Amino acid sequence: MANHYKGSCLCGQIRFEVDEFAPQTGNCHCSMCRKFHGAAYATIAEARRQHFRWTAGEHLLKGYTAANGTTRRFCSNCGASLTFASPNADPDLIEIALGCFDDEVPVRPDAHIYVASGAKWARPRDGLPQFEAGRDSKLIEQESTP
Ligand SMILES: [Zn+2]
Ligand SMILES: [Zn+2]
Repeated sequence: MANHYKGSCLCGQIRFEVDEFAPQTGNCHCSMCRKFHGAAYATIAEARRQHFRWTAGEHLLKGYTAANGTTRRFCSNCGASLTFASPNADPDLIEIALGCFDDEVPVRPDAHIYVASGAKWARPRDGLPQFEAGRDSKLIEQESTP
């Protein structure tokens, strides 16, 4: 089964394709993701390296490495947030901003992470599990919504 889920940056000069997604897609509320995306949280999907490729504009990619060693890559022309990499993560996985896909994708977010450092104005209420920090951290008890 050969699917090509295509995505691009805001100006369209950087393009990429994913053939198959890895299982986890998380909404990350950490302050770095919030600032990088200018949003309440970042939705990050994952793919194995062999299932991901840049198809145009790779030379326009720019990276920013934060104090904790995580690197976020973006388009140097339009500023679109594209990928995330942590030195502690599986190097065979590439983490991609789900919002940059142009095609419908078969994955949906399955958890909120780093909720304890999230914006108070954007507490999730969608019933997905909420972790204080990473997926191995404490789950936040959620009030049941009537
Ligand atoms: Zn761009
Ligand atoms: Zn984050």
